[in-house]
Amino acid sequence: FGDRIHQSSRPAINSQIPSDPDHLSLVSFLLDRTSSFPDRHALVDAATGRTLTFFDLHSSIRRVSHNLIARHGVKKKDVILIFSPNSVDFMVAFLGIVASGAIATTVNPQYTVAELKKQVDDSGAILVFTVPELWDKVRVLNIPTVMISTGNTRVSAFAMADSSVPVTHFNDLLEEDFEDSIHQGDGLDITLSNQNHDKDGVAALLYSSGTTGVNKGVVLTHTNFISSALMVMTTLDSRGELPNTWLCFLPMFHIFGLCIVAFTSLCLGNTLVVMEKFKMEQMLTLVERYKVDDVFMVPPVMIALAKQGNVTRFDLSSLRRLFCGAAPLGKDILDKLASMYPKTKLIQGYGLTESCGIITLVDPEMDAICNGSTGTLVSGVEGKVISTDTLESLPPNELGELCFRGPNIMQGYFNNIEATALTLDKEGWLHSGDLGYFDDEGRLYVVDRIKELIKYKGFQVAPAELEGLLISHPEIVDAVVIPLPDDEAGEVPIAYVVRSAKSSVTEKDVKFFIAKQVAPFKRLHKVSFVKSVPKSASGKILRREMIRKVRSKL
Ligand code: AMP
Repeated sequence: FGDRIHQSSRPAINSQIPSDPDHLSLVSFLLDRTSSFPDRHALVDAATGRTLTFFDLHSSIRRVSHNLIARHGVKKKDVILIFSPNSVDFMVAFLGIVASGAIATTVNPQYTVAELKKQVDDSGAILVFTVPELWDKVRVLNIPTVMISTGNTRVSAFAMADSSVPVTHFNDLLEEDFEDSIHQGDGLDITLSNQNHDKDGVAALLYSSGTTGVNKGVVLTHTNFISSALMVMTTLDSRGELPNTWLCFLPMFHIFGLCIVAFTSLCLGNTLVVMEKFKMEQMLTLVERYKVDDVFMVPPVMIALAKQGNVTRFDLSSLRRLFCGAAPLGKDILDKLASMYPKTKLIQGYGLTESCGIITLVDPEMDAICNGSTGTLVSGVEGKVISTDTLESLPPNELGELCFRGPNIMQGYFNNIEATALTLDKEGWLHSGDLGYFDDEGRLYVVDRIKELIKYKGFQVAPAELEGLLISHPEIVDAVVIPLPDDEAGEVPIAYVVRSAKSSVTEKDVKFFIAKQVAPFKRLHKVSFVKSVPKSASGKILRREMIRKVRSKL
């Protein structure tokens, strides 16, 4: 079926992926590309205007990585957790951690203590980077902590005085007690080569539920990050454009914000304006103030922007491109935005945490019309569509499971051989759990999801996690959680629940029982009581059947 494998038609990136052991780190890659313009602005904090030049960024990464090793005894492959909203220091922390040879894992700041603890236990994190606002959730973990100050909040002394575990100020990690090596410019290189980076060196564990079950650590290597950034850069940079200003409100705990927006922006030598989170008014103000070229969005933000109608209060004429990914985007919204912003290119993309964030991107030069496709394969990625019945490769225009291969694909799930074997086959194909097809021109259409995953405003909700919590209720015998289509959020989770014989538990009770245990975006929007949950002979929930039934009633 060789002819049914789709290759990228974009320029190859292989020769740009480093193989020299001293340059295998994503940080060396970044430093190599950006050392010739030390004075250029790399990161700007949207709230305070605080700015880091590329020189500042380089020396901060050096200091953080050096101090993690020298003062905190961090060793190669130690896992360090970042539990923080977006900030300039989030990126400095991430890059400093991976430069030290440690592995960074990130958590949504909305997570409850129980959810956070699960990830700490699974990843084996030895140190946490957080912010004062989240200290109440972190203190109970009893893990050494580094406190970052965000926006207007300063790290106060309370945390240190009140804690039985060591709490360090992030600023202490920025101290330079190895001044000479910084000024000679070789401090980091020493650190990096001491850590013996290898081709499969792991940079990050980002959590995803994949095609089934609960959250798992997606093992992403330095090479994965470098490849992903190159894949985006080759697509966006091919016309020799000057450095741009990008805006990032997408969460940096997610691969889209972390790698596709923030890391790639830095590698391109762009200026990245960092927002803590999305706020429409602030976004428009910043586009005008910083003459932002490119903004990266998720469908709910695109929908909100379309609903705003023509914005005349702000000068948005600098906007060249609006990118959208992470969940399906309706063609009606694309058409509406295209008419509102005729000079701005609308670029859809598709990717997964397991592909380090990228698989396809629309090339607006080729695809002038918004046709709802997620674009064509980025450089170095191969794709095929397989029948969900026979597993054979299918020709263009036929619907099946989308599979991908390339240097951006994860190594596997952390400490989970079974889940890895279910998702990555022996030939290296990632089975995405998404349903779609390629057209005759190689454009990819993502039509549906066959995996369990629910996406609420682009955030992952794993039905298996909510089902596990539901059946832990003493009066609930069985439960299934499925997505319900929603105009604003894309999908919301709803539950069908079997009560025990004499139970009088109500919908409100069940919703509350879940709400107090999970982050707000995972809350159940509807609970219905049923006599039984449909199952196959082998006891597997017939989820697709239930989803089909619910959709047919809409
Ligand atoms: P995550 O790992 O959180 O990035 O989620 C990846 C999943 O999001 C994919 O497997 C898709 O189901 C969905 N997704 C991402 N981008 C798109 C897109 N452009 N259109 C439709 N679904 C998407």
